[in-house]
Amino acid sequence: MLVCLRGLIVSMSEKYGLVNNGLIVFDDSTGLIEDVRRWDERDLVRCDLIEGDEHSIVMPGLINTHTHAPMLLLQGLGAGLTGFDWLRRIWCVEGLLKPEHIYLSAKASILLMLENGITTFADHYFYEEEVARAVEELGVRGVLAKSVIEYSEHAPKHTIEESVSFATNYNKVANGRIRTMIGVHAMYSCSTETLLKAVESSEKYDIRIHMHFSESLHELEYIKSKYGVTPTSLARRLGILKTKPLLAHATYLSDEDIKTLSEHEVYVAYSPFTIMSWGQDIARVGELIEGGVTVSLATDGPVTDGDLSLFKQMKLAIAAQSSRYRTPSRLHPKEVLEMVTKKAAKSLGIEDLVGVLEPGKKADIVVLKPPKTRVVGLYDDPYTTIVYNLGDESVSDVYVDGRKKVSDKAPLGIDVENLREKLTDTRTELLDEAAICGK
Ligand SMILES: [Zn+2]
Repeated sequence: MLVCLRGLIVSMSEKYGLVNNGLIVFDDSTGLIEDVRRWDERDLVRCDLIEGDEHSIVMPGLINTHTHAPMLLLQGLGAGLTGFDWLRRIWCVEGLLKPEHIYLSAKASILLMLENGITTFADHYFYEEEVARAVEELGVRGVLAKSVIEYSEHAPKHTIEESVSFATNYNKVANGRIRTMIGVHAMYSCSTETLLKAVESSEKYDIRIHMHFSESLHELEYIKSKYGVTPTSLARRLGILKTKPLLAHATYLSDEDIKTLSEHEVYVAYSPFTIMSWGQDIARVGELIEGGVTVSLATDGPVTDGDLSLFKQMKLAIAAQSSRYRTPSRLHPKEVLEMVTKKAAKSLGIEDLVGVLEPGKKADIVVLKPPKTRVVGLYDDPYTTIVYNLGDESVSDVYVDGRKKVSDKAPLGIDVENLREKLTDTRTELLDEAAICGK
C-alpha cells in the first residue's frame, strides 16, 4: 500500500531540505520511502492512504545514541548521588535483576521513546538478548550492545566473549532492525586485558565498541591515579580510538585530549541532562565539533533521565553549550536537529537506512502536530521553532520501517495498562529485595 504523509517536510537531507506543503510517499510493505515532493491534488488518486495535513510537520524518526532501556524499573534510585557513589548504589540493585525484568523494562522504555518520536536507540546493558526480544516484538530499531562490567561486586557479569558472541549472533536480525556493537561499560570498570580483547575482537569481526568515556571527575581522577594518563590517552594507548568507537559523554577532556580525539574517527554521544544533573562539568562539545568529531545526542538511561526525551536534550545542548562558550551561537538549531537524526544515524553506522527522509531510505518517520500557539514563527525558521518551541507533546504519529507505531499519540499493538501493572508489581518486589543495598 502506498502511504502518503502531508505536511511541512523537514527532510534533514541536503538534497530535499524543507518542502512546504509537501508529501512523503512510502510503501508500507517494503518500508521504503519512494518520493519526497510538493503536494499535488492529483495525489488524492495516487495514494492508497493520505495522512497529515498542511499544518503537520513531517521529519525523520529521532535516534537516541546512548541509553540503557532496562533501567526504567530503577527510576528514582541514586537520586542525589554522583559518580562512583551513584554507581555503587545502582550496581547493587542491578545485581538483583533477572532477564524477565530486563524484557519488561525495555518494553516500557521503548514505548516511552516511541511516544517521544524516537524510532532508533543504541542500548548498552546486561542480558541484552531480552532487549533484542523487546525490539523485535515492538518493531522499533535498535543498535544493541551486551555490556561487560568487571569491577562491580554485584552487577551481572558478562565476559567480553559473550558480548562479542551477542554482537555476531544478533546483527541484522528482526528484519535488519537490530544492529550490534561490543559493549564495554567503561575503562574504569574493566581490566586492560578485557579492553585489549575488545579492541582485538572489534578489529577481527569489524564490530564497533560502545562504551562510557571520561564521564565524571571521579573517572578522570581514578584513571589518572591508576594509569598516570587521562582517559583519552589511555584509550589511545589501548587502541580503542582506532576502532571508530561510540563514546558516551566525553565530559572531561584537556586541549590535548580534544586534539587526539579529533585525529581519530570517534563518535561522541552527548547527554547533557545526565551529566549536568550529576553535578559534572559541561562537555566541550563545541570544540569537538570544530575538530571534526561527529557528536550526536542521547538521553542516557531512564534512571538519570526519566523521560527519555530528545526534545529536552536538544534544548539543553543549546543552553549548555551557549553557557560554556558564552555565546548563543555555538550550536545552531539545525545542527542540533542533525544530532538526533542524520549525525546520529552516522554515529551508529546506519546512515544508509535512516536519519534523513529521501527516496530509498527506510520510512522511520515522525509526524508532529504542535499546539498552534507554539508555531507562530514556523515558516520563517522551522528548525528554530522545532528545537526551541516544541516538545514530546507535539509527537502525533510515528512510523518505523513503514509500519505505524503511534497513532494520534496512542501506541499501537501494545496493552499499555497491562504493562504498567506488571511494571508496578515487579518494581515493588525488586525494591523490597533491594533493601539490602541501603539508601
Ligand atoms: Zn550510560
